[in-house]
Amino acid sequence: MSTLNSAQEAVDTVAKQAIDAALQQTFAVGGAIINNATGEVIAALHNNVLMPFPGSGTTYFLPHDPTAHGERQLVDWYYENVAPLNLPPPNQLTVVTTLDPCAMCAGSLLTAGFNVAVSAIDDYAGINYNSQFTFPSLPPQIRQQAQDTWGYYAIAAPVSRAYQGSTSPVFGGQTIDSAVYFLTSSIFSASVNTVREASNNSGLPPDQLQNPANLPADSKVRQALTALSPFALTVQSANPRDPGAELAPPLLQTAQHSPVFNSVALIDPFGNLLVCLGGVENQSPIRTAFMETTRNYAVMRWTLMNDPDPTVRAQAEQYLTHPKYGTFVFLYAPDPTTPQAVMTFGAYGSTMEGPVPQSYPSNLQYVLLPGNTTAQALSTLAQNLPPFYTQSVQVAPAQVLSQDLINAVKNGV
Ligand SMILES: [Zn+2]
Repeated sequence: MSTLNSAQEAVDTVAKQAIDAALQQTFAVGGAIINNATGEVIAALHNNVLMPFPGSGTTYFLPHDPTAHGERQLVDWYYENVAPLNLPPPNQLTVVTTLDPCAMCAGSLLTAGFNVAVSAIDDYAGINYNSQFTFPSLPPQIRQQAQDTWGYYAIAAPVSRAYQGSTSPVFGGQTIDSAVYFLTSSIFSASVNTVREASNNSGLPPDQLQNPANLPADSKVRQALTALSPFALTVQSANPRDPGAELAPPLLQTAQHSPVFNSVALIDPFGNLLVCLGGVENQSPIRTAFMETTRNYAVMRWTLMNDPDPTVRAQAEQYLTHPKYGTFVFLYAPDPTTPQAVMTFGAYGSTMEGPVPQSYPSNLQYVLLPGNTTAQALSTLAQNLPPFYTQSVQVAPAQVLSQDLINAVKNGV
C-alpha cells in the first residue's frame, strides 16, 4: 500500500474508491484507514450495498448488504486483520472518507475508537448534518469523543471552508482543493436517489407474496433459511406485528449461544420467523445481533435472487419479503447511551433506505430494555437522528405489545 503526505493525497485516494463505487452503481462513497504516524494506507474500500452477482450472466443490482458502507466495512476489516497484521490501535489510525459518515458508520467508528477525517457533508443522513460539529444525534456521553477525534478538512477557494474539528486525525488542520471536494460531494449526490430507490423497492408487497411456510422441504429457499437460522419457519405468530410467547424460545436460545446475551428475530408478513441471530462481538464489537440479522438475511436473499436456476430466483422473489414489510424483534433494545445504539438505528435506516409502511405497532420492536434505561431515552435517541432517519424512514422503536412474551422472556433470562 502507498504512503501519503497530505490531506489532498488522502482525499484523492478515497475519491478513487468513490469512483469505483459509482461504476458499480452503488452509493458513491469511499474510505481508507491511514496510519497517523506514517501516512501509510492500511486498507481502502468503497460502498458495496448494491452489487452485481458475479458469474450469473445477468446483472441484478439488488441490495446485497445494506450495511456494506465503506466505513462500516473498514471497521470489520480492522478487527479481522488487527492480530495477523499486528496493526496499531484505532486511536493511532484515521478513517478518511469522501462523505460524512451516516448514523450506522458514525456509531461503528466511535465504537471502535478511530480518528475520522471527512471531505463532503451529507446534510440528510450524515452525523454532522448541520455542519456545526455539535453532533446532536449522538448520545451526550459520546459527543465529546467525536469532537476530540474527528475533523473536516479545510477546502481552498472557491469553496473556502475552514477546517472544522480536532487535529487528531491524520493531516488534521490541512486543506484540500475545491476540485476533489466537488468530486466527493457531487458523485455521491448523483448516486444516492437511485440506490435508495433500488433498495427500498426491491420486493413484492405483502398482498403479492406467498407464504414460505408452504415451501416443500427440498426447496432451496427453505433450505437457505434453515441453514441461516435453525428456528426459521418453526414459529408462526398470528399477528406479525404482535408476536406472542412463541417467540421467547428462539430469542432466548439464540442469545444463550452468543458472546453478548442478545438476539434479533425477523418475522415476515405471514407471521413466520424467518431468521433469529445473535451477535459475534468476539470477532468485532460492531457485529451485534441486529447487524448480523439484517446483513445475513439480505445476503441470503440476494444470493437466492441471483441463483443460476430461474426457478430458485422466482421462488426467492415470491416468498422472501423485503424487511420493511416484516418485523424486527430485539430480545434487548440497544443501550441508548452507547455508540452501538446509533449504529443499530442507523443500520435499521440503511436496511429500509426509505419510507416504511407505517403501522401500529412499529416494525422495530424489543422485548426488554437494558438495565438503567427507559423507553423515553431510546425514543429520544431515535428522534435526534439526522433527517433521513426521522423524516424518511421514521425510526420508531417500541416494546412488544404481548405481556405473555415479555413474561416468558423474563422467566428465561
Ligand atoms: Zn454509512
